[in-house]
Amino acid sequence: MSMKWLLQFLLDHSIQWLGPNAVPCTFCGQMIREGSSPSRNGLPSELPKSFTGSVCHICLHAIPWLLHLKCRICGRGIVCGDCARRTNAYFVANRSAVQYTSEMREWLAQYKYRGNEQLGPLLAEMMVPAYHAVTKLAAARIILQNRTLRIPLNGGAASTDKFRWDAVTYVPVSSERAEERGFNQAERFAERISRQFHIPLINMLSRDRHTEKQSFQSRSERMRNTQRLFRALPEGLDHLSRTAIDPAIGNQAASSQALPAPEPRQRRQILLIDDIYTTGSTIQSCSEALHRNAPFPLDIYALTWARS
Ligand SMILES: [Zn+2]
Ligand SMILES: [Zn+2]
Repeated sequence: MSMKWLLQFLLDHSIQWLGPNAVPCTFCGQMIREGSSPSRNGLPSELPKSFTGSVCHICLHAIPWLLHLKCRICGRGIVCGDCARRTNAYFVANRSAVQYTSEMREWLAQYKYRGNEQLGPLLAEMMVPAYHAVTKLAAARIILQNRTLRIPLNGGAASTDKFRWDAVTYVPVSSERAEERGFNQAERFAERISRQFHIPLINMLSRDRHTEKQSFQSRSERMRNTQRLFRALPEGLDHLSRTAIDPAIGNQAASSQALPAPEPRQRRQILLIDDIYTTGSTIQSCSEALHRNAPFPLDIYALTWARS
C-alpha cells in the first residue's frame, strides 16, 4: 500500500470520521469539523473566528497575509518605487489584507466572475486585520497632528477608542460591469466593514467610462486611463457634510442622541474600499475627485483586499 494511496484514502473518508458536524472548507471543499479551532499561529490576531471556522487548515495557512510592511504608504511587503514616484498624494495610505498571488487571484475570480457569491463574506472578513491596521494608522496621525502624544507612524500601540471614521465608501464599477456581474465587490466589502464597525456607508463616487480590464494595461496606460475617470457624487458629499462626529459620544451609527452639528471645515476621515491595489492610480483618482469637490478637508485612507 503506497503512502500516497493511504493519504488519499484518509482524505476521502475523513467526512465519516469527522462526524455529522463536518462542513466543507469554503475555498477547497475539504471537510473540516465544525467548531474545531485550528492553530492561529502566524495568523493575524484580529482575524474573525467565523472565518477560521469556515476554512480548512491548509487553505488558512496558505493565505499570504501582509503582516510585515515595507512601504508605509501603500502597505506593500517590499520597498516600493510607485510610492517614491508619487507627487500628488490625494490619499494618506493604503492597507491590504493579502498579497495578490496566483492563489488569491483564483479566490477572487471565483467570487467576481464565477458566481461563487458565498465567498464574498469570507473575503470581507479577511480584511478585518487590515481594517484595524489602517484605523490605528489614522488614529495615530490625528494624535500626532494634535501633538498630544508622540507615537510611531505605523500606529504602534495607538488607542483607536476615540477615533471615528466619518464614512466608509467604495470604488464604483461602471454601470455595464455592474449589470454583467450583478454586484460590485468593493461595495459588498464596504457594506460588511460598515456593518461590523458601525461606520456610515456613503456612496460618494461614480465611474464615467467603462475601461478595458486594467490587468492588460501597462503602468502608464493605467495611470492615463484612470485620470478623471471618477466623479464625486454631490448627494454623497452632502450626506457626508451632515454626518456629525462627537468622539465623546462615540460612534454615530449606534447613537440615537442628537449630535451637535459638525464644524463646516472640520476634517473628515474617509475609508475608501476596493478589491485590489495595483499601482494606486484608481485610489488616487477617486481621492482626487473627492478632494476636488468636497467643501471641507478630507483625509482619505484606502482599505483593499489584495496588494498586487
Ligand atoms: Zn481548504
Ligand atoms: Zn508603496
